[in-house]
Amino acid sequence: TSIYWHDNAFLPEEEVRISPHDRGYNFGDGIYEVFRVYGGELFEAEAHFERLRLSAEGLKLALPWENDGLHAAMKELVERNALAEGTVYLQISRGTAPRNHLFPADAAPVALAYTREVGRPVQAMDQGISVVTLEDIRWLHCNYKTLNLLANVLAKQEAADRGAADAVLHRSGIVTESSASNVMIVKNGTLITHPADNLILHGVTRAVALRLARAAEIPTEERTFTLDELYAADEAFVTGTTVEITPIVAVDGREVNDGKPGPITRRLQREFAAVIGL
Ligand code: PLP
Repeated sequence: TSIYWHDNAFLPEEEVRISPHDRGYNFGDGIYEVFRVYGGELFEAEAHFERLRLSAEGLKLALPWENDGLHAAMKELVERNALAEGTVYLQISRGTAPRNHLFPADAAPVALAYTREVGRPVQAMDQGISVVTLEDIRWLHCNYKTLNLLANVLAKQEAADRGAADAVLHRSGIVTESSASNVMIVKNGTLITHPADNLILHGVTRAVALRLARAAEIPTEERTFTLDELYAADEAFVTGTTVEITPIVAVDGREVNDGKPGPITRRLQREFAAVIGL
């Protein structure tokens, strides 16, 4: 049986009891992180905890844990589940209280975490994915990783219904990110990605990819780019905790780089594999 961390205790999944009045459940009033575990270790843990803290501040949610305490709990969870390769999901809701939009005066945040054994998406990373583009209908605080994922869910489903692996979102023609990852393009040797502002999630993998590119002396630009630039890109890829660096080989049915992952994408994938020790 799988061990969960819920309300500050470790217990088997069957014994986890979620209140019907949990605000995460009623309002999506909470935040989350997804960590990757490679070789039993949490990858880029500090970056995830820092972002969790920013998300909490954004939602005016006072966390009763320090980063060190959360980190220790997540490490213990990985150990108790003997997880070598997979993910850790951690969510924190504002707490449990009779349903009322106003913040409850005395509710304590409720944390829930579990692990999942899952391999790297080797086929998608190798062959690339097709995407469709959709209008980004989300709110203006996409830098907070909140439980409100309806717009992302609808976008991902629409992409699947149209036979694509993911949806790349845009605001009036400016590409922001995908339904669950960041988007980067390469044009004339320069790596271009949306600035880390309020319109995108500040991806941990995005930061790693930029760091690797700079170390490899690949020019980088954190600036907005348009749908037309995406269509005309030499290469394109998405970055994310579970997708790592996955090439985009078609956008709205038009091939990118003749439908093949490009050389800079491949280079960054190799550098990324080296960082995670593979
Ligand atoms: N953008 C969105 C909307 C996401 O949900 C995610 C999560 O995976 C990302 C980007 C990528 O962030 P990270 O690299 O931290 O996983």
